[in-house]
Amino acid sequence: MTRARWVIGNWKQNLLRGPAEALARGLVGGLPDPLIDSDDKVKVGIAPGYMALDVVRPWCRPAGPLFLFAQDVGAQESGAFTGEVGPGMLIDAGVRGAIVGHSERRALFGESDAVVSRKLRCALDAGLRVVLCVGEPLEVRAAGDHEAHVLGQLAAALANLPEDSLNHRVIIAYEPVWAIGTGNTATPDDAAAMHGRIRSWLREHFGAAGSDRSILYGGSVKASNAAELIAAGDIDGFLVGGASLEQAAFLSIIQSVAGP
Ligand code: PEP
Repeated sequence: MTRARWVIGNWKQNLLRGPAEALARGLVGGLPDPLIDSDDKVKVGIAPGYMALDVVRPWCRPAGPLFLFAQDVGAQESGAFTGEVGPGMLIDAGVRGAIVGHSERRALFGESDAVVSRKLRCALDAGLRVVLCVGEPLEVRAAGDHEAHVLGQLAAALANLPEDSLNHRVIIAYEPVWAIGTGNTATPDDAAAMHGRIRSWLREHFGAAGSDRSILYGGSVKASNAAELIAAGDIDGFLVGGASLEQAAFLSIIQSVAGP
């Protein structure tokens, strides 16, 4: 089976509704025609802030070519959970998927592995795609414990997931914390080595369903380094923060993944 290739922009807490709509429109205007006509080359997603979801929706599936993601999702479908946005609310707003376990959620908002696992399960049960983020902090890499750390996050997030739930709706994003928003990108070899390890772990635990999953790299991906990361192999696309706010840079990254 051919693994889907993805480029997903995480806009974080940036862009009011007007600039968000303009960026989505500009991206669609700049996508090469083959990418608009076909699913095969690379799927392009955007994850705007909640308040801008409705203004970008006309550029997203089914009306347009982009896939609409949320940056987070509640760990329960509905109820007395003030401030939370559940998967059903996202689907109702036209959202197709959600990022879960981003390192900023884990570090700044105290999200534990257990919460990440509940969010993942709740989103999948509702029918959303999930981009599950894993990645090690700098001190963990310096100590040489990065593989164990990342595989531990995976094991915790996917614990008790029925084998048939690990389907095309689960996308993994390896995002070393020390590379996010810092300008320090993992070397292509280091990124590819971790992707290979994640893939073999998924195969060991979920069989073919595991090894067929798309594994994206994230962490200071730019127009200038996307092609060499893809060339390293085993990297099925990118989760992009800062550079996804710049139309030309994001389009160039998409082109690197799509190839000539
Ligand atoms: C991210 O936040 O997921 C990310 C990869 O950010 P940046 O590209 O800015 O490092």
